[in-house]
Amino acid sequence: MVAIPVTISPAPSRPAHPAPDGGIGDPLIDTHGRVHRDLRISLTDRCSLRCTYCMPEQGNEWLARTSILTLDEIERVARIAAADGVSTFRLTGGEPLLRRDLPEVVERLAALRGPDGPVQIAMTTNGIGLRAALPALIEAGLSRLNISLDTLRRERFHDLTRRDRLDDVLDGIDAAAASGLRPLKINAVAMRGVNDDEMVDLVAFALAHDAQLRFIEQMPLDAGHTWDRQRMVTRDEILAALAQRWHLTPVPGRGGAPAERFLLDGGPASVGVIASVTAPFCGACDRLRLTADGQLRNCLFSTTEYDLLPVLRGPAPGDDAIDRMLRSCVHGKLPGHAINDPSFLQPARGMNAIGG
Ligand code: SAM
Ligand code: SF4
Repeated sequence: MVAIPVTISPAPSRPAHPAPDGGIGDPLIDTHGRVHRDLRISLTDRCSLRCTYCMPEQGNEWLARTSILTLDEIERVARIAAADGVSTFRLTGGEPLLRRDLPEVVERLAALRGPDGPVQIAMTTNGIGLRAALPALIEAGLSRLNISLDTLRRERFHDLTRRDRLDDVLDGIDAAAASGLRPLKINAVAMRGVNDDEMVDLVAFALAHDAQLRFIEQMPLDAGHTWDRQRMVTRDEILAALAQRWHLTPVPGRGGAPAERFLLDGGPASVGVIASVTAPFCGACDRLRLTADGQLRNCLFSTTEYDLLPVLRGPAPGDDAIDRMLRSCVHGKLPGHAINDPSFLQPARGMNAIGG
């Protein structure tokens, strides 16, 4: 069976691909030679914040609870992906800490082994509630954490996230810094006229917490579809602002990593820039995504999803059918996301429902 993609908004034209080859245990290689080793798993579309660049203030249409993948379903997909060579699973959302069975998810996934040995479990979180959750997550086998923080100023944080919870986020970062989880990364979306005067402060804050700051160019993934290229702070502007304070040296050997890294004053401390809009890194992309409601995606910006739910919940679903769906999704991956193309269409889902 070749999986039929579900189009969620008018899809860009794409070449017809032959049916994908291979089976469980074969690497997930797309038609451009990219080997997929990273699966981002969204555990929920719900969140404790309402960041303006991600979610609407009100009126969000939540995924039906019955469509949310169970622990067993997530583990099953991950087990097959691991057999196919996926070696990193990143838990995200929405806010993954809102998922009650998060320690069990981490424990089950951390027990998986791929052809190259045990897998790594990373998580991207807003940090709210992290202090209380962290001991169980570390015990369960969590390997790495990225925490999001766009501003150090309370009022600004409130405006940006529509919630007065900066202290909770800072507490989560303190707890992460005190834990042994390294490297610890802090993600900040750079926005013109919003937090672009805090870039040096954010890096200094990260350094004081033994963490690496990573600036992300704002992407057209907000649920309200209000992204405006003019408000986006570019990679070059970020680097120019940081160069006022530090001497920046590019770190070679990026591989498939989304962030370009720069040593600060010769290192070892560094800063990262994820320039998905002005300097796309699609050519080395090794990532796939699984949404909380069981849709496989081969790109953040894809308008096509591969529906695993009926495969997982149909009569006597076989592992081979799940593997074929993974392969079809990889096979349909385009060479690049085309954000800068006039024909670019923003995906229907917001970032919280795709999984960042
Ligand atoms: N709630 C968690 C958090 O905020 O870290 C995990 C999910 S969130 C969607 C993952 C990452 O995506 C966060 O670092 C967030 O800042 C980033 N993000 C969300 N919307 C974005 C956008 N439109 N452009 C760039 N980054 C975005
Ligand atoms: Fe929630 Fe993360 Fe989206 Fe902010 S970026 S609204 S914390 S999912």
